Amino acid sequence: MSGVAEASGSPLYGDPSHLLQGRPYRLGQLARDLGSAVGPEHVSSEPAERAEQAADWSWMAQFLRHRGLPLPTADLVVRPDSAAEVEAVVRIASEYRAPVVPRGGGSGTQGGTFALYGGIAVDLTRMNRIVDIDETSLVVTVEAGIDGSVLEAELNTLGLTLAHYPGSHYFGATIGGCLAARGSGVVSTKYGKAEDMALQVEAVVPPGRRIATLPIPNHAAGPDLLQTLVGSEGTLGIITQATMRLDPLPPARRFLSFQFPDVATGIEAGRLIMTRRVVPAAMRLYDEADSAKLTSMLDLSTSGVLLIVVLDGTEAAMALEQQAIEEICAANDAVDLGGGPSETWWNGKYEPFSKHNAPAPPTVFGTTDSCARFVDLPGLYQAKKRTIEEGFAEYGARYTAHFSHWYPWGAMIYDRFYVDQAPEDPGEALALHDRLWDAAVRTSLDNGGIINDHHGVGLKLGRFMRPQHGAAFDLLLAIKHAWDPDGIMNPGKLGFGAPRSGW
Ligand SMILES: Cc1cc2nc3c(=O)[nH]c(=O)nc-3n(C[C@H](O)[C@H](O)[C@H](O)COP(=O)(O)OP(=O)(O)OC[C@H]3O[C@@H](n4cnc5c(N)ncnc54)[C@H](O)[C@@H]3O)c2cc1C
Repeated sequence: MSGVAEASGSPLYGDPSHLLQGRPYRLGQLARDLGSAVGPEHVSSEPAERAEQAADWSWMAQFLRHRGLPLPTADLVVRPDSAAEVEAVVRIASEYRAPVVPRGGGSGTQGGTFALYGGIAVDLTRMNRIVDIDETSLVVTVEAGIDGSVLEAELNTLGLTLAHYPGSHYFGATIGGCLAARGSGVVSTKYGKAEDMALQVEAVVPPGRRIATLPIPNHAAGPDLLQTLVGSEGTLGIITQATMRLDPLPPARRFLSFQFPDVATGIEAGRLIMTRRVVPAAMRLYDEADSAKLTSMLDLSTSGVLLIVVLDGTEAAMALEQQAIEEICAANDAVDLGGGPSETWWNGKYEPFSKHNAPAPPTVFGTTDSCARFVDLPGLYQAKKRTIEEGFAEYGARYTAHFSHWYPWGAMIYDRFYVDQAPEDPGEALALHDRLWDAAVRTSLDNGGIINDHHGVGLKLGRFMRPQHGAAFDLLLAIKHAWDPDGIMNPGKLGFGAPRSGW
């Protein structure tokens, strides 16, 4: 059992004179029981492994590491290899009433993998197999811990694609994690979010029971458990397997780029494109500040409000789509920049997330993405920009935004705040971060937006779940309590509070 020493001096037992004290003794028993279930070599109490499992890519995790401060870690890490082993882990956790924190690739940004109450971190990355590819229906079944980029490469060899390319494609994001946090990729405008791609999930729920949702997502067999588990971020159970829709790799792509006089005109063009049901694979409208940032990274040789459009499919279909989009843009005072900037963006789409370009502490930053109907979008953008730039002027706060995931009725706004230098005092820095989030999210809620489009809630946004859902949040709490009576599943996330157990 790696790191779970049976004798004195281990991180669990500490001073040998305390060997029979309650908590360390219980942890030793728990470690041994988990070892029997998954193999002792797949249970660890090593502090470095526990810290690694707790960390994600949230600003909080990055900041604490930057300052050399501890993260809230689990007591033990387990690495199950099958759904049967996950069942055993959750059964044992239920017996001990120990918190369970699932973890995929750890690429989340909301503190979802922080183990606020200790317990067991369940690393799912050994469960990384492709179970079945149905090439007739274009459907794949995978274990939840498979890395999305690995799956995609495998599908591409068959001429297929999942068409889910998040910015974290090469950060280890797993299919289970993408479903758990309702993720979205760069071609979501045409192919949908992760939740739209799911036909079925299998999950282990307390007290260690394996369940599967219906084999297909479109049914009239009552309320939908698939979309209850999707987005639950480990608070209801552990997704162990997912069946996802596929597409053939597109035969060709076309690239279009336009410059607009201002953001509102660009939104209007996007609205007309979407409501006339011309559906680009990707469409991204950058405000001036974000367009300048993008241009500095990718040398697009443009400035101002930029619209990038990527079409895919057959040449005949794309020719019609291109014509429709060009006509709409021309009628809305756009300058046609040709294909260059768009193609450069497509080829460099992961570049803004690379180590040398991504923001990092000491900068305080946050992606406060929201989503709203077209009627609300221009006002939402202006209100959030004002909230950050004027409300935090004393800190020199900056604001950037682009609109990157479009729906027939509205769009997602991917906006960020930046304060270049975090206060020296860590408590003050964390408080400033939270105040920026409070202001941004409340502005979203007051202007027709929602707390998040596709990064999930985690620890960071849990306090907004009640204002977001209103009276309906009590029903979500009732589901959580019925499903997980001891509150052991990822406690402290989604605003569901502490574990009910006395762990
Ligand atoms: C640079 C960068 C760019 C990003 N870009 C995007 C983007 O474009 N689109 C996007 O959607 N997201 C993006 N993200 C956020 C992140 O990649 C996604 O939220 C992703 O879905 C998380 O997957 P993961 O496997 O890493 O999950 P983790 O970070 O391991 O976990 C996220 C949450 O899901 C829970 N969880 C994980 N696996 C399971 C499971 N099998 N069952 C139940 N619960 C589980 C965890 O407990 C946690 O609460 C980005 C992140 C980074 C760092």
